[in-house]
Amino acid sequence: MNHTVQRIHQVRLPLPMRLNHVNSYLIEDEEGWSVIDPGLATEDTMTVWADVMKRYRLTFGDIRRIIVTHYHPDHYGLAGSFQQWSGAAVYSSRETFEWADRTYHSESIRKTAQFSRKCGVPASLVAEMSGHIEELFTWVKPVGGDKVILEPEAEIQLGQWRFQVKLGSGHAEGSIGFLHQASRMFIGGDLLLEKITPNITYDYSTDTDPLKDYFDTLNMLRTLHIQSVLPGHGPLFQLSDSFIDRVIEHHLERLQEIRSMWRHSNTREFTPYEISTRLFPKVVDSASLSFALGETVAHLRYLQNRNELVIIERDDALFCRYNSI
Ligand SMILES: [Zn+2]
Repeated sequence: MNHTVQRIHQVRLPLPMRLNHVNSYLIEDEEGWSVIDPGLATEDTMTVWADVMKRYRLTFGDIRRIIVTHYHPDHYGLAGSFQQWSGAAVYSSRETFEWADRTYHSESIRKTAQFSRKCGVPASLVAEMSGHIEELFTWVKPVGGDKVILEPEAEIQLGQWRFQVKLGSGHAEGSIGFLHQASRMFIGGDLLLEKITPNITYDYSTDTDPLKDYFDTLNMLRTLHIQSVLPGHGPLFQLSDSFIDRVIEHHLERLQEIRSMWRHSNTREFTPYEISTRLFPKVVDSASLSFALGETVAHLRYLQNRNELVIIERDDALFCRYNSI
């Protein structure tokens, strides 16, 4: 193993979903340990943590920092409990804390359901989706104690490494990664994943353009000349020159697929749900549907903001119409 990653321990934590694991990183330094992304607050996760802490002869009192790369449940879920047990502060971007506050309560589940219905998702599926989200939220323990905001470009010493904070968006607003400049090693959360493309998350409550944000983030990451990535899911990987181009290409193809729906049919309007079933034909379970729908709406929003497509609201439902037809 490369010397520079020798004492950054990757801890693979279980997830009760199709994406079946998330990575946490443990970094030891003289004053204590830093934990990056403690995982989802399930019993299975705690079993793994108990084993890992035994292996490194670590107690909660040894944890000096809890760092969260973004507010999604699989990364942020245990942060509040780890904080209670260790007394350590939680470090993340300002947006991560704001989004966590905005997300983890029943009102946001109700509004997500309302938005899904508007997108044309059948009522029975909406009810199932809400059930999944409700269950997921029971595995999130929000941060109530000390928070430390990591500003973009700030430097932070973790173990023997001095990292620079990089701020990105698209998958989750306010995502942060840590660049070690000398070795071009990047602890990236979900900003760069090797085998799956990070889900582009559209949120009903904002007016953002997350696909554009992700393109901007990728172009920023390109300038960092990252060599190795310690990702939020999957093993460490080397970033090839063409990697970022391929991720962009993947989303451009998806945009192309949306345009082709009008080219190959006489239908004037499609609901966002109809478009999502075309883009993600394999997604049949309600647990994955919210990801598919969010990603679809992010792409629709991108085309809408570039005047290719209009999204019309009629009788409390959304319909997409392609502009040049
Ligand atoms: Zn993740």
